[in-house]
This record gives sequence, C-alpha cells and structure tokens, in this order.
Amino acid sequence: MRTATTGGFDMYDAFFFDCDGVITNKRAQVDSQVIFEAYRHAHSGRKIAFVTGRSLDWFSKNLIPAIERFNPTPEEKRRFFFIGEYGNRWLSFSGGTLAHGSDDSLAVPEKVRTAVRNEMHRFPYLSFDETKESFISIEVRHERLVSPQAEREAQRQIDEARGAFAAKFPQLVAIRTLYAVDVMGKGVGKAAATRRALELMGSVSQALVIGDSEIDLEMGEELRRKGIEFDFYYVGEGQIPRPSFPVKKAPGLYAEGTLEVLRGVR
Ligand SMILES: [Mg+2]
Repeated sequence: MRTATTGGFDMYDAFFFDCDGVITNKRAQVDSQVIFEAYRHAHSGRKIAFVTGRSLDWFSKNLIPAIERFNPTPEEKRRFFFIGEYGNRWLSFSGGTLAHGSDDSLAVPEKVRTAVRNEMHRFPYLSFDETKESFISIEVRHERLVSPQAEREAQRQIDEARGAFAAKFPQLVAIRTLYAVDVMGKGVGKAAATRRALELMGSVSQALVIGDSEIDLEMGEELRRKGIEFDFYYVGEGQIPRPSFPVKKAPGLYAEGTLEVLRGVR
C-alpha cells in the first residue's frame, strides 16, 4: 500500500470521516476548521462522506449549518453525503434541497424500544436518545458527571446496561462506546454504513479514511472488500489492536489530527 507520509497527495477522490472525535472538538462541537478543509476538498471535486451512528437530526443541527457557512455551490453540496444511524438513515443534496433516505430492514422493533424505555429507571445516569429512529442509543447524562465518583458510576451503569440488554435481546447486538450503549440489529454498523455511502457516491477509486476508534476499522475493511484503495488515519488515543490493514497515525489527536491530515492533502 502507498504511504502518504510525505504529504502532497492529490489522488484521493473520496474522503470518509467518522464524526465523534474526528470532526468534533473536546466539547463535542463540530470543528469549523476541519469543516473548512472538508469544504475545500469538495470544492476541488472530491466526494465527502460522514459515516456515523449519529442521527439525521444531529447532522441537520450541527454539521450541515457548519458546511453552509462556506456558501457551497449546489454542485459542491452534491459532493457531501451524510450517513447516519450506521447506514439506516441518510441525507444528501439533490438539486438544491436535502433528500432523506431510510432503510428499516434492520431496524429495532418498537416493542424492544418500549422494553428498554421501561428499564431506564435502573440507570439514573443514562438517558434514552429519542432522536435515533432505527436503533436504540442510551447515552450518559453529561450534566450529571460532576465528580470523579459520578464519572465512575456512569461508566459502571453503561457496562451494566450493555450486559443487561445483551442478555435480554440476544437477537440484537449491544455495543458499548465511551459514553453510550447502542442496541441494534445484527449487520448494522460502520461496514453497512460505508456500503450505503458507496451506493450514494458512485465510483470511488482512492479513498482517505479517518477514524478514532476500533469500530471505524470497519470502514477500511469494507473498502478493502470492494477493492478500493485507501489510506486509513487513526486520530484516537493509543493503538488500534490487530488492524487487518496498515493504519497511519496523525501527529495530533482527534479534530486536531484530522486537520493536520486534511491540510496535508493538496
Ligand atoms: Mg468516533
């Protein structure tokens, strides 16, 4: 595989970004310098996909306004693809307007959502995210993390909730992230989300992928299955265990690392 460490590469025709920790800063806000770089690359003809478990509501309130601030032309807007809920929901610009897409073939049934809502009283540090339509996301109540003890208790409740829901719904998968538990259909994830992105983007031959956690490796694995060449940059802390393809480390972490990588691409 090529190395991009010398910088100045301009052969990428598509970028794939995770959202949390990649295009957001420490306060979970979208980083406007990173978005400017994404816009600059869309302006030069590249396709940009955001691949996340976040909801379309989050895109509409946080990311799309940050892109609109640079006054992209309709043609530039059409190069952005917003893949939410791990591929079950998506947005793209068609003409001048946003088109919504959805696929509920792997959605969590309403009776499971109700059962989980009814258990939430057991986890006072967690809340049920009602903006997710196709799977269940239980998030830490960040306003309750007022002390190290509260932080530890919240982490304990995340573990307990993950274990409880994994046991209760063996037909689904329960994944723990830093501040949340996601309960979703088997087959839902970053690989499915990347597949969705590729369907919408059309042809992609050389991709740049940026992630900050182990599940982001699925983006690279899916591109590899499709025979698409890519460079994968990891902007999270520590090392990714057992990657099945070369992973590059950005000099900086999180949005800072993303910014350095994007600025290095002409
Ligand atoms: Mg992330």
